[in-house]
Amino acid sequence: MFEYDLLVVGSANADLVVAVERRPGAGETVLGSDLALHPGGKGANQAVAAARLGARTALLARVGDDAHGRLLLDSQRAAGVDTSGVLVGGAPTGVALITVDPSGDNSIVVSPGANGRLTPDDIRAASALITASRVVSTQLEIPLETVEELVRGLRPGTRFVLNPSPPQELPAAVLAVCDPLIVNEHEARVVLGADAGTTPEEWAGALLALGPRSVVVTLGDEGALVADASGTARVPAVKVTAVDTTGAGDSFTAALAWRLGAGGSLTASAAYAARVGAVAVTRQGAQASFPTAEEVAAV
Ligand code: ADP
Repeated sequence: MFEYDLLVVGSANADLVVAVERRPGAGETVLGSDLALHPGGKGANQAVAAARLGARTALLARVGDDAHGRLLLDSQRAAGVDTSGVLVGGAPTGVALITVDPSGDNSIVVSPGANGRLTPDDIRAASALITASRVVSTQLEIPLETVEELVRGLRPGTRFVLNPSPPQELPAAVLAVCDPLIVNEHEARVVLGADAGTTPEEWAGALLALGPRSVVVTLGDEGALVADASGTARVPAVKVTAVDTTGAGDSFTAALAWRLGAGGSLTASAAYAARVGAVAVTRQGAQASFPTAEEVAAV
């Protein structure tokens, strides 16, 4: 009935990573390592994560007519993502300029570029793709007005999943359709504003009161908390030795969205997503770390 299990609407960035001994101050130049260039951006990451698990996945995004855009299209196609919804041109491809210091801390400058040019008109023009998708998942690395248009155009039966990253306070019309709203601690605090509370249970309760149909709070190596009108449940993490947590949240969200669309309960889907996230943190990188279904079955 649906051509796609999951449509990811969101960002696609080229991540440019250089290791440095220390960061330059104003007016200063430092030498760093060789450049590493990786496909990234939360939308592109989620789409690759879902496709690698076996979900029939499409990406609706915008990249520049440049080498970074071609890198992103190639990596999506290599993972099996349908890229017919990826628009090209209008601005350079989004870029994340990342420096990593010896302690492993990142400093990141993001140039949204083409991601900022994914417009409400682009959403309206993609209505056939949206209608062909069982679940639609998005984040906030594209303009909020674009997310608002996406929400307005959803069919009643389409499941909508939102990871509000980078976080901001959300319009009621967006919150009302989230099923679930997926947040980590930082995102929960920003979405909630001043009266966030202190425990994940309190965050989940306060988030549910804002209107989403369900809420998932991810808790890193402590797993996740799921909440809806029927109650709240903890989902334990799978015990692994983490080497790089980049992209864990994106792979968790993609897996959760896919399993929910396949009819899984919130708790069972989050438990599966926790296994996907656990495999992802045992490997370096974001997209490079995302597992296949066979690899998830082995943990
Ligand atoms: P984000 O990257 O958005 O902050 P989290 O760090 O909470 O998201 O990770 C998402 C999910 O990935 C967690 O809910 C958990 O299930 C899994 N995960 C993350 N880090 C670890 C870890 N160190 N060990 C096991 N599972 C992890």
